[in-house]
Amino acid sequence: EKPFKVTVVGSGNWGTTIAKVIAENTALNPQLFARRVDMWVFDEKIEGRNLTEIINTQHENVKYLPGIELPENLYANPDLLDSVRDTDIIVFNIPHQFLSRIVQQLKGHVSKHVRAISCLKGFEVGPKGVQLLSTYVTEELGIQCGALSGANLAPEVAQEHWSETTVAYHIPADFRGEGRDVDHKVLKALFHRPYFHVSVIEDVAGISIAGALKNVVALGCGFVEGLGWGNNAAAAIQRVGLGEIIKFGRMFFPESKVETYYQESAGVADLITTCSGGRNVKVAKAMAKTGKSAEQCEKELLNGQSAQGLITCKEVHQWLETVHHLDDFPLFEAVYQIVYNNVPMDKLPDMIEELDLGL
Ligand code: NAD
Ligand code: 13P
Repeated sequence: EKPFKVTVVGSGNWGTTIAKVIAENTALNPQLFARRVDMWVFDEKIEGRNLTEIINTQHENVKYLPGIELPENLYANPDLLDSVRDTDIIVFNIPHQFLSRIVQQLKGHVSKHVRAISCLKGFEVGPKGVQLLSTYVTEELGIQCGALSGANLAPEVAQEHWSETTVAYHIPADFRGEGRDVDHKVLKALFHRPYFHVSVIEDVAGISIAGALKNVVALGCGFVEGLGWGNNAAAAIQRVGLGEIIKFGRMFFPESKVETYYQESAGVADLITTCSGGRNVKVAKAMAKTGKSAEQCEKELLNGQSAQGLITCKEVHQWLETVHHLDDFPLFEAVYQIVYNNVPMDKLPDMIEELDLGL
């Protein structure tokens, strides 16, 4: 049977890390996967040279994942449509604000047999309400899409320090290709490494909601840490945050399972790791310490990377306002008000006090 050709769309801090994981696996599994993995790069000049050319000659993403050697079978491709030509599996891994533009460019260029996994953290909020990013991909491109989410700070995975992750995928009834369809075994073979342990489940909604919303909670954690309030305050924010994440899932995505939030890497474990050392925390801490805006801190600290919670808290606010549920999620709303309306951070405890989780 023809091996699966795999393309990674995205080449940031996590995009490049996941592309490395995948390329290591395709090189080891020639029966199952085509050796070459294309990684679409939103190309840019670094000291006069194209980033794609640097990646393909030096085997290092000097801007978004410096110091990590990339497999030689990973090919940086600046042409989006060329990168997905004849592909069977597309792994989306870009900051989620760019997803709709990329998906619109791909429309009409992706065959129906293609399967996708979204590693993005965020939502799509539009005329159809709040949507999972995997649902958006499925509806726009007509292909089945699952998700990968977990306690996965990219630099640690890139350095091959052990971590766990969760892949969620529902096998569709129809397959319009040659050979075999993607199943849970194929996905495990694609992502599992000795340093990256994969559990494959069905609950795409649960892992996607947890992955998107923990970034908002991490901003709250960063605020109290930046104020110098210490571990008790950070733990309080995480406790309230977990409650709001579960409540959001139950209210708007009843198909998601409560166990996912507690038991999977994509649930509470991702909340803990992101609140300990993620980029959202860094940006929020800097906001607390310097009084500068979120945008300014992100620009100064992240060298072109994105703190996704800043956009997600706005998406969540827009959605909750539309459905008249702002009062039910006081932490999410407090984070939004601090980021966008200059509400003082030291008001956080009062803003979240009247909490009824309704569990
Ligand atoms: P990143 O934050 O490193 O963002 C930089 C990337 O965005 C670069 O590849 C850059 O070329 C690209 N970019 C900039 N402008 C663009 C444009 N106009 N169009 C398209 N691309 C553009 O990205 P990342 O860390 O790879 O994150 C991707 C997703 O993975 C996010 O949703 C993030 O939340 C999630 N994630 C990240 C981590 C992590 O530790 N970095 C871990 C797990 C999940
Ligand atoms: P940050 O984007 O806050 O670094 O979080 C990364 C992440 O999603 C870890 O799983």
